[in-house]
Amino acid sequence: MWRENTYPGAACDVPSPFYSFSFETNPNWPHRFSRQPAILDYIRHVADKYDIRRHIRFGTEVLGATYDSAAGTRQIELSNGVPLVVDVPVSAVGQLSRPSYPAIPGADTFAGPAFHSALWDHDVDLAGKRVAVIGTGASAIQFVPAIQPEVGHLTLFQRTPPHIVPGPDREFTRLHHLAFDKVRLAHLLERGTRYGVTESLSVALGLLRAAREDRQRDLQATHAQADEGRARSLREGLADLPDRLQARPVLQRLPPGTGPVQRRCHHGGHHGDHAVRRRHRGRSGA
Ligand SMILES: Cc1cc2nc3c(=O)[nH]c(=O)nc-3n(C[C@H](O)[C@H](O)[C@H](O)COP(=O)(O)OP(=O)(O)OC[C@H]3O[C@@H](n4cnc5c(N)ncnc54)[C@H](O)[C@@H]3O)c2cc1C
Repeated sequence: MWRENTYPGAACDVPSPFYSFSFETNPNWPHRFSRQPAILDYIRHVADKYDIRRHIRFGTEVLGATYDSAAGTRQIELSNGVPLVVDVPVSAVGQLSRPSYPAIPGADTFAGPAFHSALWDHDVDLAGKRVAVIGTGASAIQFVPAIQPEVGHLTLFQRTPPHIVPGPDREFTRLHHLAFDKVRLAHLLERGTRYGVTESLSVALGLLRAAREDRQRDLQATHAQADEGRARSLREGLADLPDRLQARPVLQRLPPGTGPVQRRCHHGGHHGDHAVRRRHRGRSGA
């Protein structure tokens, strides 16, 4: 990944004293958030110092693996056709080393130079050009500010807006390098602080997400309870409705006359109706 991605501004978003092996610390990182060339140099240095290269089969792709249950081994199929049998295969193929191209209709008929940020074409001089960038992911966040001052016009196409926070980057001076080299504690302090800050942020973000999910769950449970309560009130309120309606005289029509019997009958009919409505309204509003 750090070999392929050479776009302008390519850098690591993890502080370098932390984005390095504990057994091979580097007192000479040029920045707290070092750029791609420094990271690639570091990786090459580690490969050389620990004599890793002789174990690497360059330009060779793993195409598949077959398990031999009798021998308990795996036959690895390589693109160069050389047979390889191992006891324990460990996959370290990364997940982002192959650029992904969106299917944009008409993209293949575009006449100008076009390339993926992971395969930056350094032969194309962008100075004064009209440039369109598709996407605002982690790579665009780094190379857009790097090319913007030199291009003639820049159009940025954004589908999903990302969150961006300012990184506390700084250039490490000779004094830093000297301190990191000679005073072991200074380097451990920088590494430990970055480790603490980065891990705390991850934990804090995780806790925030968990708290938000908890709140959503609580809210859903409260809504479900309220719905159930309303439904129960309605059922209870209406359960004896047929009896109550039967028990009270129901006015089918207003007979002529204004005597006491007729008045009570009239009043009772309405009273019963109001009571049902009042009870129903009172419970459903609870
Ligand atoms: C543009 C970009 C920026 C990034 N920035 C950061 C960052 O700032 N901080 C961070 O923590 N992470 C970042 N990452 C994630 C980054 O991928 C990891 O930090 C790190 O490089 C992963 O290391 P890796 O060894 O797992 O994978 P990689 O570095 O991707 O290495 C995988 C290797 O496996 C090889 N390979 C794959 N398939 C096969 C096969 N079938 N046969 C043989 N070889 C194979 C590849 O060629 C590659 O050499 C970034 C990724 C990208 C693409």
